[in-house]
Amino acid sequence: MSGLPPCPKCNSAYTYEDGGLLVCPECAHEWSRDAVEAAPEARVWKDAHGNVLADGDSVTVIKDLKIKGSSSVVKVGTKVKNIRLIEGDHDIDCKIEGFGPMQLKSEYIKKA
Ligand SMILES: [Zn+2]
Repeated sequence: MSGLPPCPKCNSAYTYEDGGLLVCPECAHEWSRDAVEAAPEARVWKDAHGNVLADGDSVTVIKDLKIKGSSSVVKVGTKVKNIRLIEGDHDIDCKIEGFGPMQLKSEYIKKA
């Protein structure tokens, strides 16, 4: 049995897969593989296409973005260099040439 995680309850290595669930024959514990893999992970930032983003990435804006409190618009296709991932509703911190520092939503950008 290689590739299957040990039972989270009794640590048995004899787990097997059954209909998408992992089953432990020793303590009869059943659990979902997805839940096990998703749980301990820290947050992952993804662009509009599901590519994982990292600090320092360059991205492209895929939607006209109005800037709050001004009439300026960051146009589709604007390149943004050296992004920083932050927590929050707007989860990308960056500096756009001609606009200055601002925060974007990862769903409106794609990795360049
Ligand atoms: Zn078990």
